Amino acid sequence: MSEERISIKIRLKYSDVSLFQRRFSPYMSQYGMFLPTRHLKNKGTPLFFEFFLANNQRVFYGEGTVVQLYPPDRYPTAGLGIRFTALDQRSQQLLMEILAQQTQRSDLVPKLSPGVIQDLSDAAPATQAPPPTATGRQPARATAGTSKVPTQQPVASSNTAQPWNVGKPNAPETPATPPPAAKELPLFYGKESEIEETGPIIGIDLGTTNSCCAIVEGNKPHVIPSRYGYNTIPSIVAYDERGNLLIGHPAKSQMMLNPHNTVYGSKRLVGRKYHSPIVQIIKNRFLYEIIETEKGDSGVRIDQSNFTLQEVSALILTEIKEIAQSYLEQPINRAVISVPAYYNDNQRQAVREAGLLAGLKVERIVNEPTAAALAYGFGRSLNQKLLVYDLGGGTFDASVLQIHKDVYEVISTGGNTFLGGVDFDSRLIDYVLDRFYEEHQINLRHDAVKMQRIKDAVEKAKCDLSHEVKTDLIIPYIDLKDGVPLDINLTLDREVLNSLVQDLVEETVRVCDAVLSAQNLKPQEIDEVILVGGQTRMPLIHQRLTDHFGKPPHRNVHPDEAVALGTAILAYSFGQSGLIKLVDVLAMSIGIGLPGGRFKVIAPRNHKLPFEKSYTISTTRDDQTELEIVVFQGESSNVADNEYLGTMKLQNIQKAPRGKAKFDITFHLNNECILKITAKDLQTGLVKELVLSTRDTPEDLRQKLEMPAPAPAEAVPPPIPTQPTSHIPPIEDTPAPSGGGVLGWIKKLLGRR
Ligand code: AMP
Repeated sequence: MSEERISIKIRLKYSDVSLFQRRFSPYMSQYGMFLPTRHLKNKGTPLFFEFFLANNQRVFYGEGTVVQLYPPDRYPTAGLGIRFTALDQRSQQLLMEILAQQTQRSDLVPKLSPGVIQDLSDAAPATQAPPPTATGRQPARATAGTSKVPTQQPVASSNTAQPWNVGKPNAPETPATPPPAAKELPLFYGKESEIEETGPIIGIDLGTTNSCCAIVEGNKPHVIPSRYGYNTIPSIVAYDERGNLLIGHPAKSQMMLNPHNTVYGSKRLVGRKYHSPIVQIIKNRFLYEIIETEKGDSGVRIDQSNFTLQEVSALILTEIKEIAQSYLEQPINRAVISVPAYYNDNQRQAVREAGLLAGLKVERIVNEPTAAALAYGFGRSLNQKLLVYDLGGGTFDASVLQIHKDVYEVISTGGNTFLGGVDFDSRLIDYVLDRFYEEHQINLRHDAVKMQRIKDAVEKAKCDLSHEVKTDLIIPYIDLKDGVPLDINLTLDREVLNSLVQDLVEETVRVCDAVLSAQNLKPQEIDEVILVGGQTRMPLIHQRLTDHFGKPPHRNVHPDEAVALGTAILAYSFGQSGLIKLVDVLAMSIGIGLPGGRFKVIAPRNHKLPFEKSYTISTTRDDQTELEIVVFQGESSNVADNEYLGTMKLQNIQKAPRGKAKFDITFHLNNECILKITAKDLQTGLVKELVLSTRDTPEDLRQKLEMPAPAPAEAVPPPIPTQPTSHIPPIEDTPAPSGGGVLGWIKKLLGRR
């Protein structure tokens, strides 16, 4: 027996149709939509649905049938799965736009399959919305006995009846949205000298996924809770559909609905040149747009405004500063901030800049493993060798430290900047997509919004598997096939996860061994293994490290909080002279580019900090007035494989025969591993401090390093390959194979054979 037709009206709180598109995009497909509601109806119930903007404009309406139920006790978001049976012409167009945006290819505007959705534009009057009343509210629609659209109409119907603006004949067809003004950020654009040095110094772990803030009170370090009561805040910044700036938890909670205006994982991009190989590889992994700033750095474009990544990090630091101020009830102007041991000079400078933009004087940049060791050893008078195993969201670092009472000395460090929790997620995502493809022959990989839903659910399942041996992965209404809504509904077990990521765990063990053998150490010589980073909660990692080091990892250091606690301890020590001594090493060699693209190391990896080294250069032409030194960081003998730090220019050199003008160049690295270069003119005795220019493109570099021009065919970067290697094409989280894609192009441009 057929159900009585019901009417569902949804009045939105905004008046911009594009916001409707963005908000509902994750819930729409060619065949139907997921309608979040707690008022469930029986399967098979026919219905009318109407969506109204705040200005009473009806943006989307049609008819459908309830085909799936998502009750609140079983699903995180309750609602109805609706199969469209009829849509008016404007709603069809809107749906097509949404589907085109989902594929992010405007040239791939999908056509609605004829026969799946009927055209409501020709519908009998009963299916058209009555005009709004004087109060702007719609009178109730008849709910029963309305005739169904009898005929199918082509999508590009010439029908002129436009129910879109019923009752408002002169209204524009789409609401005019003025372009948003450039955003004013709540940041400090002054000088460091303007910041008062009052109040306590806080410690901040500015993390890839989450950030954490701590302070020492009563001789004990503790975490300062966020305004929502959490010990960490998500390192996420967003603009919502109303243009409100969101930081931390509010930004995270709307991420799925607003992925293109939500910046996450920015720690992997901050301080990196836009043209650097790493950015070119990873920029397509983010759903927000990554742009090149005026200085050639990576930046982001959200809500139609451009931001530097220093500004994005500064917004997170501002939130932390405010949380600390309200918790400690006094102004906070100073901080110690941690960075990965593997951060290069540009990235460290960028974090300092971010601190200043947040109105914080950065008293010290400290390496994360050192901070974690401080959290472990402070006040315990230890004499031990530690291995800090730090596996976070995006990177893996392993460092060996010697603690001797209050002296913390890094002996060796290493890591993999392409190995982190996201890679574990990727393996599980591939598994889930493969199962879905096997069952339905549908590839969901190219739908950014659906992928975001899958990623969120998979990451949660991965975390659940750290304390459960089995978990259910349920993602309702991920697609429709032949009008039937499809869910992802799988039971995942820990053994399957372990088998999918075994090689990633082995890679971390290999890095640990390399770090140990750089100092001729054996695993048995390590007294304690300290775990840092959320991904280390995985039982497989505990097991593997226990086997390898012959003892279980230390359990009393909190993986999410240790680094922040260590930064707070260091901040506290500044007021107590001689309390702590840190000795760090250079994590990656620094050197210069030579003609032909060779790399000459000036400061070698694992060298103790501070570091200083001088060498002499001279002009190579008569009357030469300018000299340039191109600086890179990395371990390859070829500059193209290393990170470009910048170019130093020596200008206005006094004219002289070649070889006569000579300069002593000194590379100086301080305790924080921040690079300063000075040049002493040996003729005049004048000393110049050099600033690294940041504007060189790969093309400029190629010319400076006198490298051959690439063949014309190679000058155009090919797209990063997205073709299948298995039966489903991978697009995410897999670095382009070396020599291919943009990386390959840059390598070729810089002359790598
Ligand atoms: P972090 O950058 O240290 O905040 O680490 C974030 C990473 O840790 C993300 O990839 C998370 O999915 C992962 N993570 C957090 N909690 C767990 C858990 N219980 N089990 C496995 N991974 C986790």
